[in-house]
Formats: sequence, C-alpha cells, structure tokens
Amino acid sequence: MKDRIVQPEQQTDEAQFDYSLRPKRLEQFIGQEKIKANLAVFVAAAQSRSEPLDHVLLKGAPGLGKTTLAHVIANEMNASIRVTSGPAIERPGDLAAILTNLEHGTVLFIDEIHRLSRVVEEILYPAMEDFKLDIVIGKGPGARSIRLDLPKFTLIGATTRAGLLTGPLRDRFGIVHDFEFYSTDALVQIVLRSASILGYAISEEAGVELAKRSRGTPRIVNRLLRRTRDFAHHLEKQEIDLETVRFALSQLEIDENGLDRIDRLILTTLIDRFGGGPVGVETIAASVSEDAGTIEDVYEPFLMQCGLLKRTPRGRAVTEHGYKISGRPYQAAPPGLFEN
Ligand code: ADP
Repeated sequence: MKDRIVQPEQQTDEAQFDYSLRPKRLEQFIGQEKIKANLAVFVAAAQSRSEPLDHVLLKGAPGLGKTTLAHVIANEMNASIRVTSGPAIERPGDLAAILTNLEHGTVLFIDEIHRLSRVVEEILYPAMEDFKLDIVIGKGPGARSIRLDLPKFTLIGATTRAGLLTGPLRDRFGIVHDFEFYSTDALVQIVLRSASILGYAISEEAGVELAKRSRGTPRIVNRLLRRTRDFAHHLEKQEIDLETVRFALSQLEIDENGLDRIDRLILTTLIDRFGGGPVGVETIAASVSEDAGTIEDVYEPFLMQCGLLKRTPRGRAVTEHGYKISGRPYQAAPPGLFEN
C-alpha cells in the first residue's frame, strides 16, 4: 500500500516538491497557533541571552509539519541545521561523529528519534544535558574513558510515536510540542499558498473542498492539489474549480470526509467480521493486510479524530457514526464495554 494517495508519509517523488512548499519563517507557518506563540517567546528569550534554544521535541502524525518547523526554528535562530534520523544513526560512533562536527548554536534535527538504539541514546544524554561526549579509547583492561566538550547546540527531535520514547530521553527536552490535525481554514490557506507558489490557478471553493478532504494534513492537501491539477490539465481547464476537484477525488476514491478505500475497509471489516469490535490492533492489521504500527500511527488517529472509531480498554470499536457512514445498521455494544 505504498502509493496510497492519502498516505501522510512522503512519497518517493515528493521530496523536491515538499521542499519548495515549506514555509521558511514562523510568520509563514500556517496553523498550530499555540506552538507558534510559545516558540516565538522561547526563541526571543534565547536570542536575548545569546544562547542556543533549549532542546525541542515535536510530536505528531506524519505530514503535519515537524520537519518544516525544525527548519523554521533554525532560520529564526539564525542557526545552521544538520538533518538526520533515528534509523540512520546505527552505531554510537556515528552519533559521536555528528556531535563533534557541530558548531555553536547549530540545530541538530533527528527525525524518528524514537528509533534510536539504546546504546546510541546513552551517548545523547550527557551531550544534551552537559554538552559532553564520553568516549572510550582502546579495548580490554587498558581501555580508558575520556570526556570531550561539545559546542552548545539545540537538538530537535521529531516523533510519530511518542509512546515509544524512553523516559530519560523525553525528560531531557526542555520544550515539548504536540502537533494537532489542521483545521479546514488553515488547510485552505496552505493549499492556496501552495497553488500560488506552483503557479496553479485555483478557485477558493475548490481550495475549500480539497482542504475538507485532506485528513487535517498539509502534506496530503498539497498532494491532492497536484493530482487535481493533473485532472484539470486532462480536462483542458485553465483553473482548478470545484467540479474538477469533485471529479478528481471521485476518480481517486476519496470520499467527502477524506476517507479512502482502506479506511472504509477497516470500518466495514470491524463491523462485518467482528460485530463492530472491540478488537485488538493486531487483528485489525491482519484482516486488512496492513502493518500494526501503520494502523496505530496513521489510520487510527484520523478515524478517531473523525469520531468513527474509538479506543476502549479491550480494543478498537466502531462508533455509531462509523456504522452510519459505512451504510450498516448500528448495533450498540454490550453494556459496560466502553467504560474506561
Ligand atoms: P512531517 O515532518 O511532520 O512529516 P513536513 O514538515 O515534512 O511533515 O511537512 C509536509 C509538507 O507539508 C511540507 O512540504 C510543507 O510544505 C507542508 N506543511 C507542513 N506544515 C505546514 C504549515 N504549517 N504551513 C504550510 N505548509 C506546511
């Protein structure tokens, strides 16, 4: 299911496109008002003390703007940024090499920070806390440990799975922000801005329609914009209008709530095979041939946000609204099942 049109992760051909659409400064960053307001204060305070910003942890579903915000923070601090990811740092030596090459104030961005191995994480603790690097020289009885000073830097960690972060790592971030799904208004602004950067003509109502069907996610609204533009081209239209959006999205099997075939399959499978649940995430994953982590990271948060699915102590269950949009008569779960 790699090329699912509404998948919030970046697709292979999208890196350049994502890059050109990224806002560069805090004032261009749309939505996430609470995060922006707090960051503006912290950035100004750090700058007035001529110190690097405290370490920042950004939590939230894929495609909501964590990487973008990390770059924005570096720009606002007039700092350079070094980008890496949890899985790319395989051994402690890899991290040591990165840390010793930082300069004063550099932002080190580690995407998917929950995927760092324990041994690598342990190098990070003294680096984050005291800007020190402990390295062991030699082997066996003659081995000795030395402590190196590191330049003061800002670590920005991004994670889609905050629950997988270890306590000691989480505790070392002074600033922690949770990304929320975007409102339709914010997504309209994002899609109109993207269209203007890319030179596409689009009507306001077409922008609203795209925004409503984009699962609260900027990366998805940008992708649907591109796909819709292909349909406009095919239909020989000069402008992306409402009719084109509706046609494009029906061709792409995305319904008026932004649900695609797999979302609907999850709901109907739960209803038809498991009486609406509750059922464990592993079982859902196996029934729709998806990975359990992807169900938890990607599908579930959105289905819950729409009020179609709910989490109960005994597993996931379809809500009354979920039955309705699946076109199935509602069967209430036995009493007591949804009590937390
Ligand atoms: P994440 O790191 O959370 O997966 P990204 O930062 O890569 O997400 O964002 C995905 C795309 O969405 C980027 O190309 C960017 O253009 C767009 N985007 C994200 N957040 C915003 C925003 N607040 N305003 C405008 N565009 C955004």
